[in-house]
Amino acid sequence: MLKTEKSQLLYEQSCQSLATGVSTGFRKNVTPVPIFMERADGPYFYDVDGNEWIDYGLAWGPLIVGNNHPRLTTAVTEQLAQAYTYGAQHSGEIELAEKMVQHIPNIERVVFSNTGTEAVQVALRLARGFTGRDKFVKFEGHYHGWNNNVLVSNHPAPQQFGRTVPDCGGQPEAEYSLTITCPWNDLDALAAIFRENPGQIAAVIGEPILVNGGSCMPRDGYLQGLIDLCREHGAVSIFDEVITGFRIALGGAREYFDLVPDLSTYAKAMAGGFSISAVGGRAEIFETLIDGRTSHFGTYNGNPISVAAASATLDILSEPGVYDGMHAHGNAIRKTVEEAGKRCVKKLITTGTGSAFHVHFGLEELPHNVRDVIQADQETGDRFRSNLLDRGIYNLPGGRWYIGATHSDKELERVVRAIDESMQAI
Ligand code: PMP
Repeated sequence: MLKTEKSQLLYEQSCQSLATGVSTGFRKNVTPVPIFMERADGPYFYDVDGNEWIDYGLAWGPLIVGNNHPRLTTAVTEQLAQAYTYGAQHSGEIELAEKMVQHIPNIERVVFSNTGTEAVQVALRLARGFTGRDKFVKFEGHYHGWNNNVLVSNHPAPQQFGRTVPDCGGQPEAEYSLTITCPWNDLDALAAIFRENPGQIAAVIGEPILVNGGSCMPRDGYLQGLIDLCREHGAVSIFDEVITGFRIALGGAREYFDLVPDLSTYAKAMAGGFSISAVGGRAEIFETLIDGRTSHFGTYNGNPISVAAASATLDILSEPGVYDGMHAHGNAIRKTVEEAGKRCVKKLITTGTGSAFHVHFGLEELPHNVRDVIQADQETGDRFRSNLLDRGIYNLPGGRWYIGATHSDKELERVVRAIDESMQAI
């Protein structure tokens, strides 16, 4: 049974000085109380109450090679001995940029920043500088960071469908008035927006797999259709690969789907737990930074610690069999959940890929976008998760699972048992 006494006490103490007691809104509802961690090792972490967890949350995506990976740790500690940061160029940046160009199909240039939120803003700035246009399209249920222009219509209620609605207070309309919101996986809806805003749309940004909205897969031909519509109307297509990048394949969605959007954003899995992000894509678009049509800044951009971490992570991930292993592990979990659901007469469906997927209770048909996903039975999903937590399995709220390169058969054996027991218990 889950012990949470010490986490509870620390949370109460935390609330006295740290506003809300947690450092991101996403951690408020993670478990009965926010769990306070103490240390981690490979695919396990250990909290202040002495619980051991198999980690299928991976810090919301970054920990793709687990914690304490010897090669990653060595790369970072060697860099620590050299310098913390320079605020100037160093050759590690070239090495990392070259690895990205080598590993990701049709990436001709990259720039670095620090978080996914920033990379998205860099991509939008580039698109606007390149096209000389102001508006852009984002999709319902897609998360692109917490800036006012993109934190809109992430969890729309049915009466809000088809509109751009802010997700929280403190978001002035002026800051999202150039954001046009569109339902995802619907090319007609996107085409209509282009028709209604002729010559005005700088970019279309979307997650290539809607992981943040329930790991919905794109319909056949949808992403290519999106890219084609952008091309036809002179807009920049942006895949937000902050989650899918280096996760669903080394070359992310470009490799997985064999597609070439104009720009892609990367963060999370890129540096195995260290903070870095990047935008990559067509050289022509990055010309805007060279000829002064737009600019890109950041004190910590390309800082050597994060760059060393990213370089080592990409080396580990580029070894043969890494992605096959992750996908096989995830597919085995999905199959276990589906079979256990059948045995226990629970209506459920799983969506996504092997290395990033969702379990949706109460759905029988594959959801195509967030409008479908909100029909799921979240209450049963929460009970399933809480039973898994009691058995030392840590996945994310909303039925989300991430698989890393260090999840092995040993963890699979434990998680299969926990799934069977948890399904019976709900
Ligand atoms: N884009 C996507 C697709 C994301 O999933 C996230 C984070 N969950 C972001 C952008 C923002 O990234 P960060 O939290 O690093 O700012």
